[in-house]
Amino acid sequence: MISERAKKVKPSPTLAVDSKAKEMKAKGLDVVNFGVGEPDFDTPEHIKEAAIKAIKDGFTKYTPVGGIDELKEAIIEKLEKDNGIKYKKENILVSCGAKHSLYNIAQALFGPGDEVVIPSPYWVSYPDQVLLNDATPVIIETHEEDNFMLRPEVLKEKITPHTKAIILNYPSNPTGFIYDEKTLREIAEISIRNNLYIISDEIYEKLIYNGNKHISIASFSEDIKERTIVVNGLSKSHAMTGWRIGYAAGPVEIIKAMTKIQSQSTSNPTSIAQKAAVAALRGPKDCVEEMREEFEKRRNYLVEELNKIPGISCKMPQGAFYAFPNVKELLGKKIASYELKTSMDLSIYLLEQAQVALVPGSAFGAEGYIRISYATSIDNLIKGIERIKKVLEDIS
Ligand SMILES: *Cc1c(COP(=O)(O)O)cnc(C)c1O
Repeated sequence: MISERAKKVKPSPTLAVDSKAKEMKAKGLDVVNFGVGEPDFDTPEHIKEAAIKAIKDGFTKYTPVGGIDELKEAIIEKLEKDNGIKYKKENILVSCGAKHSLYNIAQALFGPGDEVVIPSPYWVSYPDQVLLNDATPVIIETHEEDNFMLRPEVLKEKITPHTKAIILNYPSNPTGFIYDEKTLREIAEISIRNNLYIISDEIYEKLIYNGNKHISIASFSEDIKERTIVVNGLSKSHAMTGWRIGYAAGPVEIIKAMTKIQSQSTSNPTSIAQKAAVAALRGPKDCVEEMREEFEKRRNYLVEELNKIPGISCKMPQGAFYAFPNVKELLGKKIASYELKTSMDLSIYLLEQAQVALVPGSAFGAEGYIRISYATSIDNLIKGIERIKKVLEDIS
């Protein structure tokens, strides 16, 4: 009954811990949630006002499939000002979230026989979106000592005549690391020489710390821009996860195909949310910076505390709102009736015994790590860290 395509897709591996956490919460247990993938801040007021105005003005009908001109223009201004990349309206598609943009890309570009390079640790949806379009994910492991950057020489070895594209995500979910300019330039060179597309997921670009600046791979040259699809959105930068606005910028032919596909699935993203997105992109920027500063404070606290826990070591992440500590020393150990063989075992132990929910590294293709989201208050971070420390004391 169920299609082969649907059978290929795994349910999200994060769900095991998440559904268990929800079950415990429902029973009245005080679970500290370090598993969340969205900002805990409210959407800024001026953005909400723009949406309310849109409703009152009756801006509540279908819009053009790929988004209203006003929003495309605001996106073009943003990409030029922040990223130094020049686009026209025919290079832009607005979708129902960046995840939807990524899905449209997969539908427009991938098919049977195509190989798509995905560095691990990866965001959970990339491999499945590739599989859903009958292509093959080629996972290339990256390493903590390289700040989880894809090594250009390793990439070169993995390229075959079937390689179609590389999916990059910087700042990264789950690791919190960014790419340095030199490595990005080398990857750009390799993709030009081998005729590969780059899908550049830059959704966390506004959350970068220590004064680092985001660099988009598409900004290096006309040659790389012509084979890059930049994906971005408002979910993470403006605390707008529920509004579902994301966008893609890329070559006209690809954007046209993506728009056609979108026209046969969702049609336009919500009219009201599009007006809110215009306000977000053109409005005051201090709200974005305030949230970034708060995240940076939390990051500093969290990473310092994690490194005080025996068996855990955590490199300072450079962006997004995740820490990705190494827990290899804890694995293979026993505690009470638990045997901690995998990061999943550790996550279940911490959930059941400390009531702290977090995501095992295996969910992102990286055993030996856990992902801790700091999109939660300092008070919660303090509470969660104390609990983790306490339940790891008797480990042997
Ligand atoms: C959150 C997230 C997205 C998707 O965001 P949308 O809410 O769909 O705009 C895309 N990529 C990564 C890496 C993310 O963490």
